Amino acid sequence: MKYKLYQNNKRKYLLDLDSVTLVELDEIAYSHLTENKKNKDVEKDIKTLKNIINKKIKESEKFYNSDIIFEPSNIILNITKACNLECIYCYAHKEKPESMNMKLIKESLEYIFSNTKKKKITITFFGGEPLLEFKKIKESVALSKKLGKKYNKKIGYSITTNGTIMDKEIIDFLIKENFSLTLSIDGCEYIQNFQRPFVGGKGSYEKIAENIELILEKRKKLNVRATVTNQKIEIKKIAEHFIKELNVGGYSFAIASYPYTKKWTEKEKKKLYKEVEEIIEEKDKRFIPLNISGVWETIKKGEIKKYPCGAGLGIVSIDIDGKIYPCQRFTGEKDYELGEVGMQWEEFINYKKEFYKKVVKKIEEDCGLCELRNICGGGCPYELLTKSKSRSISCNLTKIGVEKLKVGR
Ligand code: SF4
Ligand code: SF4
Repeated sequence: MKYKLYQNNKRKYLLDLDSVTLVELDEIAYSHLTENKKNKDVEKDIKTLKNIINKKIKESEKFYNSDIIFEPSNIILNITKACNLECIYCYAHKEKPESMNMKLIKESLEYIFSNTKKKKITITFFGGEPLLEFKKIKESVALSKKLGKKYNKKIGYSITTNGTIMDKEIIDFLIKENFSLTLSIDGCEYIQNFQRPFVGGKGSYEKIAENIELILEKRKKLNVRATVTNQKIEIKKIAEHFIKELNVGGYSFAIASYPYTKKWTEKEKKKLYKEVEEIIEEKDKRFIPLNISGVWETIKKGEIKKYPCGAGLGIVSIDIDGKIYPCQRFTGEKDYELGEVGMQWEEFINYKKEFYKKVVKKIEEDCGLCELRNICGGGCPYELLTKSKSRSISCNLTKIGVEKLKVGR
């Protein structure tokens, strides 16, 4: 058994790392494990626990060996390459600002809806800045509702936006259709204006802060997403601004990675880890980044993660030319293309299976005997396969999350 022990408010816990099982311990069991005070009853309990653990591991293997995991349930439509911002770490503004046409959107939705065995489908609008194509988004939503009725699917919507071109009409529409919103903002005014200026250089903070206020008038909770660069490692300040000034419900952060930014030095990484450790200790739960609370959720739910995410499984990311990729981050990476809209379904699913096998093999090689393997699932496949330089940072953040687990929170 590989395990970790925790003490929180005088209560004691054991986390089994293979099966991701968290159990509360009494004093006798705790001293049996920590002070080597042997106790027969505890030995018996450990045996029972081991049996439960083995059963749970077998069930999770069954899940990952079933074919249903490859059926699409999240369609990412990369609706446009155009963007009105010019972020310092982004590649989109270097591409031709083309958009998806309605014919392809219709074909893509029909292709997935008519073939997938999944009953619940989420459509995610992605860009560039997807709201530059608001009219097409509205048409796609109307179209998907018709297709949902035709193929008996339940549909949800989601959008990732820079939040700068919203107005009352757009916000009302997104709220009426119950969109899950991810707003990208990098922090307080000087960080946002430095890292995410409008094309032409003007700061974008004022506009996005105004729109966040408008959204919060209509919706109680909003989560935002920040990109952290090694030019502004101020995660504590960023968290404080989000929670105290903008009053958002929660936030996550991503690391801007090489080659789009300079390589992180060891000193910079240490500063980031120290700040993350400090915000974890904040009493207000909203300060905990969703990246860390996500690790805690996995542990508390007792999920065994043999695979980290939906890339190549439920996610399909469709590019403006109809080519399909494992997720939004892979879009346009020719080596990881999974086929194209309209191709023979079995062939497409086989491409997905091949991709999955490749990732799993790479995870086994790269993660080796890491004890967090079943909690983190092996880390982002994009970072793994493309050898992005932020992978070691992501590993360390997961480690911090597990070490600092607050069981009662
Ligand atoms: S923490 Fe890093 S090394 Fe460990 S399992 Fe996750 S990705 Fe692999
Ligand atoms: S591959 Fe990485 S970016 Fe893509 S869905 Fe998985 S975790 Fe997210």
